Amino acid sequence: MRKPIQRLFQQWKKSHPSEIDGHFEREHDRAFEQTDCLECANCCRTTSPIFKERDIVRIAKHLQMSVGHFSSKYLKRDEEGDWVLQWAPCPFLELETNACTIYAERPQACRDFPHTDRKNMHQILRITEQNTHLCPAVSKMLQSILAEVND
Ligand code: SF4
Ligand code: SF4
Repeated sequence: MRKPIQRLFQQWKKSHPSEIDGHFEREHDRAFEQTDCLECANCCRTTSPIFKERDIVRIAKHLQMSVGHFSSKYLKRDEEGDWVLQWAPCPFLELETNACTIYAERPQACRDFPHTDRKNMHQILRITEQNTHLCPAVSKMLQSILAEVND
């Protein structure tokens, strides 16, 4: 599916951003209605969310840890200087059930993943293409969009 998606994204360079957003608005909810994240957890197993300062403060408080202790135990800076997990799978993932043990307090980036429910999708098409290989829901969205535009 890589080549058709790349061709589509190439065509979208001439499209208005709202047209691209419209495709994802139509497909995001539908894809997640057909996808059970508890049977997947690929994102939690293989990648790290970015932890913003407010995420760190909230989660450290929830775990009754100091911010410093939480950061040194779980986090590191990536090449862009963002706080990310030191290892994967995420230490807050319950591996047997795929449940997030800090679900109510999870980072904003976990709530937003795979970032297909937002405006200005044209700004993140490269990462969205990469996410088709990681996230079955994104893969479903792109399959449906490709079927629609090629109809
Ligand atoms: S990779 Fe996608 S489908 Fe799988 S758990 Fe994450 S958001 Fe859900
Ligand atoms: S904090 Fe929770 S939702 Fe986020 S990566 Fe870890 S297990 Fe997944």
